[in-house]
Amino acid sequence: MAKKDIDWNNLGFGYVKTDKRYVSNFKDGAWDDGALIDDDMITISECACVLQYAQTVFEGLKAYTTEDGRVVCFRPDLNASRLADSASRLEMPVFPEDRFVDAIAKVVEANIDYVPPYGSGATLYIRPYMFGSDAIIGVKPANEYQFRVFTTPVGPYFKGGAKPITIRVSDFDRAAPHGTGHIKAGLNYAMSLHAIVDAHQKGFDENVYLDAASRTKIEETGGANLIFITKDGKFVTPKSNSILPSITRRSLEVVAKDYLGMEVEEREVYLDEVKDFAECGLCGTAAVISPVGKIVDHGKEICFPSGMEQMGPKTKELYDTLTGIQMGRIEAPEGWIKVIK
Ligand SMILES: *Cc1c(COP(=O)(O)O)cnc(C)c1O
Repeated sequence: MAKKDIDWNNLGFGYVKTDKRYVSNFKDGAWDDGALIDDDMITISECACVLQYAQTVFEGLKAYTTEDGRVVCFRPDLNASRLADSASRLEMPVFPEDRFVDAIAKVVEANIDYVPPYGSGATLYIRPYMFGSDAIIGVKPANEYQFRVFTTPVGPYFKGGAKPITIRVSDFDRAAPHGTGHIKAGLNYAMSLHAIVDAHQKGFDENVYLDAASRTKIEETGGANLIFITKDGKFVTPKSNSILPSITRRSLEVVAKDYLGMEVEEREVYLDEVKDFAECGLCGTAAVISPVGKIVDHGKEICFPSGMEQMGPKTKELYDTLTGIQMGRIEAPEGWIKVIK
């Protein structure tokens, strides 16, 4: 095994082509056997359903090297079941969940020399996705699909420590009450691009979306769930049918309760009460937790007592414990770590 000659500590979050990808095609009502291939290009009809009607769903997870030198993934079975839910909502055939986990293991093993070493902070990002691939012009689901998994090494999310960010309350809505906010579909991201460009132009790091029906409750940002810590040390996270069920957030709930002895509440969180929380963070696979120092609601600043210099103390405990579990420094709950090699 010879690691690729990559400057792991200075990798950014960009696409770097690796050696192998996994592909399986769905045709005539069945998935084929699937294979690892070299070709990073896809040739499809100019009228492919994905290009016309955005029939595509995806996942994101990471492989990394643990303290004792194993290469592992974190809870890929949950990515498998979430992709199945996403596919069903868009009338796409489900890729079998056991085959999904097997495909992840195969593609990581085939690109093992791109898995960054322990301690670098870098990881091998894994992108499974599927899309309607045959020509569709009348509005209906495709007949043929491709499931594909590629990998790309990515640098540490935080270079030089996790600095709290500033997010703004968005005037755009992300998801309707009975819409598609709970699935991981490209369409939810396409419509967030304008809001994110606008937020950046105005000096904010992210948008926090409110519930579209009443615009009084916190939902999530474009790509991460929110967590809050109360002044008396409770873990609170918004409950809503239109937010994406983050695997990181669900894992943090277990960590908070079982490892840190915190009380955990999943409930509606009103924008009005946010000023009373002690700490706030965004959670997702990419950063695990990004601390939020400030939420700006149309010129009104909600500043968390944890400040703009460092993660809040409880947020840091959560972060250290979950990353400790992921990196093999702390014993994981049964079934959380999938060893690849
Ligand atoms: C992917 C995603 C998340 C984070 O989910 P993880 O499973 O923790 O990576 C949160 N919100 C949205 C909208 C997402 O697409």
